[in-house]
Amino acid sequence: MTSSIRKTAETIKNSPFFKGSLYFDHPLAPLTTMHVGGKAAVFVEPQDVESAAFALKTFSQEGFCPFILGGGSNLIVSDSGFSQAVLSTKRLCDISISTKDNSYTVVSAGSGAKTDDIVSLCAQKGIAGMQKFAGLPGSIGGACFMNARCYEKSISDIIESVSYLDAKDNYTLKEYSFDSKDWAYKHSPFVEGTKIIVQVKLKLALPNLDAVQRLNNEGKGYIADREQKGHFSYPSAGSVFKNNRSFGKPSGALIDECGLKGLSVGDAQIAPWHGNFIINKGKASASDIRQLIEQVQKVVGEKTGFTLEPEVIFCGN
Ligand SMILES: Cc1cc2nc3c(=O)[nH]c(=O)nc-3n(C[C@H](O)[C@H](O)[C@H](O)COP(=O)(O)OP(=O)(O)OC[C@H]3O[C@@H](n4cnc5c(N)ncnc54)[C@H](O)[C@@H]3O)c2cc1C
Repeated sequence: MTSSIRKTAETIKNSPFFKGSLYFDHPLAPLTTMHVGGKAAVFVEPQDVESAAFALKTFSQEGFCPFILGGGSNLIVSDSGFSQAVLSTKRLCDISISTKDNSYTVVSAGSGAKTDDIVSLCAQKGIAGMQKFAGLPGSIGGACFMNARCYEKSISDIIESVSYLDAKDNYTLKEYSFDSKDWAYKHSPFVEGTKIIVQVKLKLALPNLDAVQRLNNEGKGYIADREQKGHFSYPSAGSVFKNNRSFGKPSGALIDECGLKGLSVGDAQIAPWHGNFIINKGKASASDIRQLIEQVQKVVGEKTGFTLEPEVIFCGN
């Protein structure tokens, strides 16, 4: 760790403008669903949006640009971790519910709120619209960044607006209003990486207490389907490659047809039951996973002519 980032981090930690936690040499593997990766030289977990903005501004004044960590469910963190700072949204997790013009519900969730917690809360209140995201790992901020898609429904289908800190404008708090032209399959207006999402407002149906049981059952059904598909049997980061209509079939089917299910590098393995999942059988490293991904891309490219594009995000040094 350079003395400069440590000094900047100490300034943040000791400032009255920062509420939250800050650690040095913090292990990241337990904070990801793939369970790989090294440490963050500095790990910041702000307690509120003001503290997040203060930390980001202070880092940026010294030339540092922290990586934003949500639920870590779409990431392959490098084995050497981050020599810079990682900012976790975990504690920005307040959820509130209101109705607008008596015509729809607005669920306002801090970006670190777990998507699945929002699903459960909505079901308890009889608010329809979130059920298909039941069991989706990670935070609502990450789901918004990735434009997560479950059972043919994208997060963009239910977004009303998003509050973010604009890195291009000294982390000023701004509001983005949904515009369909900014969104596409697994694409959001946030992927460029300069907008730090702090709150997501979701547009959902008005509450109907008669629907509680049905919504709970629907959510449970989607979770059971994921369990049955082996989503939670081993650590993973979900689908490794994006689907692409021009392939004519899901990426997982292409990988399967190329005979790659079960292929391993170290403890990283193409799930024997799902061509588009890489699982960590215990001691996989990020490097094992990267090599396996490259092998799959090579074989599929040679056999089919298609280029598989990773959906997982490689991050770190
Ligand atoms: C078992 C399993 C099943 C899955 N199933 C699905 C599925 O059905 N559909 C699907 O779409 N995905 C799926 N995923 C992938 C993943 O869960 C989603 O993409 C999830 O929404 C990512 O959220 P996260 O908080 O974990 O993001 P992270 O993995 O923490 O981050 C992902 C990216 O978003 C950025 N980011 C996170 N939060 C913010 C923020 N507040 N502001 C700015 N940038 C931010 C990060 O910097 C990173 O670049 C699955 C993953 C697993 C492990």
